[in-house]
Amino acid sequence: DVRHGPILYLEDVTVSFDGFKAIDNLNLTIDDGELRCIIGPNGAGKTTMMDIITGKTRPDTGSVWFGSRHDLLAMNEPEIASLGIGRKFQKPTVFEALSVFENLELAMAADKRILPTLTARMSGEIRDRIEEGLTTIGLAELRDRPAGILSHGQKQWLEIGMLLMQRPRLLLVDEPVAGMTEQEMERTAELLTGLAGKQSVVVVEHDMGFVRSIARQVTVLHQGSVLAEGTMDQVSSDPRVIEVYLGA
Ligand code: ADP
Repeated sequence: DVRHGPILYLEDVTVSFDGFKAIDNLNLTIDDGELRCIIGPNGAGKTTMMDIITGKTRPDTGSVWFGSRHDLLAMNEPEIASLGIGRKFQKPTVFEALSVFENLELAMAADKRILPTLTARMSGEIRDRIEEGLTTIGLAELRDRPAGILSHGQKQWLEIGMLLMQRPRLLLVDEPVAGMTEQEMERTAELLTGLAGKQSVVVVEHDMGFVRSIARQVTVLHQGSVLAEGTMDQVSSDPRVIEVYLGA
């Protein structure tokens, strides 16, 4: 699915909290259209890495680039988001009293690039984007139901749909299948693999079965830097990875 080379680079990034290096000389490249899983034991730096990409945490040293033109360290959080970098946190946050459709509509309104056309709210383009989103997340039939009645998995998909309304170029997804049933996990695997190619997707996930089912490339973080990178088979047979996971 790789189309135009790298979309995201982190180069020699270091972040310390009170002298402790949570991220220690991290180098990471994500290709355009790629689906990448990031794994690693607790405390490996996965959350901090996501925080750096979105501008929530500022590194002490290093550089972070989006494409070849955008130096993310020169930008604040809203500016970074407006480049098309969307983040999905672990817990779903949807508006329970609003319908599935209205949740997507609201998410669309948050897209500043579309605000000028918002007076023509239900104009063709906007409706089409919502319809397409409903189909992508598999909730077309529940469009008029309040989001509050959705299952945990369906709420997660709705929130992914809400992020898609912004037409992201890079989606950062934190532990999408925590608390999901097997069936919901399978559906989530289809959803995320379907998204890759159209945009780049970076997934932080603990469930190794799930990672194996979706990722072509896996990055293992340990003590704030990359311990191993490759296919799930490659990294899971790497003695250093085995030691970190079994020795923890
Ligand atoms: P992961 O998401 O892989 O579990 P984190 O990025 O949350 O790892 O944390 C990496 C390390 O940095 C951990 O040792 C954690 O305790 C520490 N850490 C993270 N955020 C802070 C913070 N705001 N202040 C102090 N230490 C932090």
